[in-house]
Amino acid sequence: MTAVTPERIEMSKTIRAKVVIVGSGPAGYTAGIYAARAMLEPIMIQGIQPGGQLTVTTDVENYPGFADVIQGPWLMEQMAKQAAHVGTKLVSDHVNAVDLGRRPFRIGCDSGDVYIAETLVIATGAQARWLDLPSEQQFRGHGVSACATCDGFFYKGKDVIVVGGGNTAVEEALFLTNFASTVTVVHRREGFRAERILQDRLFRNPKIKVVWNSTLADVIGSESPRKVEGAAIRNVKTDSVTQLRADGIFIAIGHSPATELFAGQVEMKPNGYIKTAPFSTATSVPGVFAAGDVTDDIYRQAVTAAGMGCMAALEAERFLVAHRLESVAAE
Ligand code: NAP
Repeated sequence: MTAVTPERIEMSKTIRAKVVIVGSGPAGYTAGIYAARAMLEPIMIQGIQPGGQLTVTTDVENYPGFADVIQGPWLMEQMAKQAAHVGTKLVSDHVNAVDLGRRPFRIGCDSGDVYIAETLVIATGAQARWLDLPSEQQFRGHGVSACATCDGFFYKGKDVIVVGGGNTAVEEALFLTNFASTVTVVHRREGFRAERILQDRLFRNPKIKVVWNSTLADVIGSESPRKVEGAAIRNVKTDSVTQLRADGIFIAIGHSPATELFAGQVEMKPNGYIKTAPFSTATSVPGVFAAGDVTDDIYRQAVTAAGMGCMAALEAERFLVAHRLESVAAE
């Protein structure tokens, strides 16, 4: 959280809004597009990584409407432009506190600005997960990464390991073959959960080797300069540990929803995703809606996130209309 200096307090503003959207992935931008077109003058607080996870993805082949392969960052730029064009106010700030105890809700940002919102759309997405090995943390940014798109370029002609067996792991392994000499995928089971089309590409690629039934036990490296030199790999069936030489290790074991801000304020599922009503984005707090990866532990696609963003905006609009009617009736 940014320190609050006297200047900051003087400069900070309190802004009222009918709809505040927190997060700027496909869910957030789509909520912005629909809410703006419903004349709700939505404000989107974009967060630290505007565009969300797609900004660290390369090829997107499954977003409908594009026969040619498109780039994730480009797609997010288009969504941002469209949201702004129809009237969403995009704010470059980071939310550090929310009070959903009563309506209107209070949303505090690092800049010191406070938003007073009639409705809130939570679209904060999810972040890459880590194995939480001490050595993984020690070498993060020095050979251990969770983003092949960001760091793959540094491994030209080198040997790398990818840990995981989902779409992300397989896509990252394929992407890394553009640079690395060899890519070894280490997966804890004997079968990937990634889509078949991606698996087929991986098995056909001569640069990629798979080590099944195995986990990363330790990152091996040296100090001054701090760098990765290999990995200790444990076979989960035999418990034997072998060493594998590598210059880089990419962890691709899934994502955790970014829900810390809302802990204790909206109901969550046991796995930490925000709970919503069936076929709805309504959370346990009336007027608060959740869309995209922050609530979706099943599909987690850009297009499903966008669909949920649309639902959240439509539901926020209906909520506002119903509450306006209620207050008119009460007067
Ligand atoms: P994921 O589908 O949840 O896969 C995570 C992988 O990591 C699984 O293979 C899992 O093994 C493994 N894993 C989890 N915890 C582990 C641990 N502690 N140690 C070792 N391995 C571990 O996550 P994802 O690949 O990031 O994908 C997330 C979602 O985004 C998915 O719905 C995916 O379809 C979507 N996505 C789509 C695209 C695309 O369509 N182009 C691209 C990327 C992601 P198990 O298999 O044994 O559980």
